Amino acid sequence: MSAKKTKTIKTIKIDVDKCNGCRACEVICSSFHAIPKYSNNNPARSRIRVIHEPLRDVYVPVYAGDYAVAECAGRDKYIIDGKEYDECAFCRAACPSREEFKEPDSGLPLKCDMCEGEEEPLCVKWCLVDALTIEEREVEIDDEEEEKRDEIEIGLESLVNRFGIDKVSDLIAQISKK
Ligand code: SF4
Ligand code: SF4
Repeated sequence: MSAKKTKTIKTIKIDVDKCNGCRACEVICSSFHAIPKYSNNNPARSRIRVIHEPLRDVYVPVYAGDYAVAECAGRDKYIIDGKEYDECAFCRAACPSREEFKEPDSGLPLKCDMCEGEEEPLCVKWCLVDALTIEEREVEIDDEEEEKRDEIEIGLESLVNRFGIDKVSDLIAQISKK
């Protein structure tokens, strides 16, 4: 049996009741991920989108999750305060059936990376009303799994060093569409 060790997982907790729809989270996220960094702030490039329901003034921040190769078969409907929301409204996936969470120029899927390299996710830092807060929890991890992940990371890093991040991203996007 392989040894277990623990690791701290950070997640962002969303308090919809506190969100006032200021969209500071969208602005800082798109700005942080702009190339060069902070050179523009187009919310269409943000990895967090704030869904707004104008009649009841409800705002729901949604984070970009994994890319889905195909539309899902079973869809959910949401009813909040008696209003029925579009079945895809709060979905986190970039998928072929909608435009959300896709880079507007290239169409490549976007995914929240928790602002890699930063001490704290910037959307959390910029949310002045604490609608977004960080939660930490300890989870057990498998040493063997960790080793495999390290190998994948090393392999990817050498590909990026050799061919550049754009070519590697294009290739991954092409493979995931197959
Ligand atoms: S920064 Fe906070 S309050 Fe403003 S839209 Fe984003 S989650 Fe809502
Ligand atoms: S954690 Fe960072 S990458 Fe993720 S949505 Fe917030 S600002 Fe964007």
